[in-house]
Amino acid sequence: MTMTNTTDYQLVALDPAAADVLRARGGIVYIADEKPGFPCRQCLRDAEIGEAMILVSHDPFEGTSPYRCASPIFLHRETCVRESADTLPEQLTGRRLSVRAFDADEMMVDAALIEGHDLAATIVDLLANADVQRLHIHNEPRGCYAASVHRR
Ligand SMILES: [Zn+2]
Repeated sequence: MTMTNTTDYQLVALDPAAADVLRARGGIVYIADEKPGFPCRQCLRDAEIGEAMILVSHDPFEGTSPYRCASPIFLHRETCVRESADTLPEQLTGRRLSVRAFDADEMMVDAALIEGHDLAATIVDLLANADVQRLHIHNEPRGCYAASVHRR
């Protein structure tokens, strides 16, 4: 497992309160029938077969960036807990990813298409650019938003 709780950056999952708001609004309900295949964006683990999930829409941007885009995400239907913020989860390291780098104005300044096992090195590479403030990680090929990386 790769450490994420470094002095340089933090891997940020969907905030539990924001996830509960999305749950309260409802969504398309699925019962996971394969694993991996239903990646929860709050606890950052893939559903076990038989777990109830909802498919909802989430926009990870905070400002008025022209890159704003709501993305489909899965959440456990019931409130869940992220077990560890200290490691890059298999949900990310086991998938092909698009990692998009944004500056303080939420303008894209760089991006990389990678295999998940290269995620830790990619984060370090992209954050080497002092203009980069945040990264958005998306699954490939479907493009679903996965998680963010914040510079400390
Ligand atoms: Zn979950």
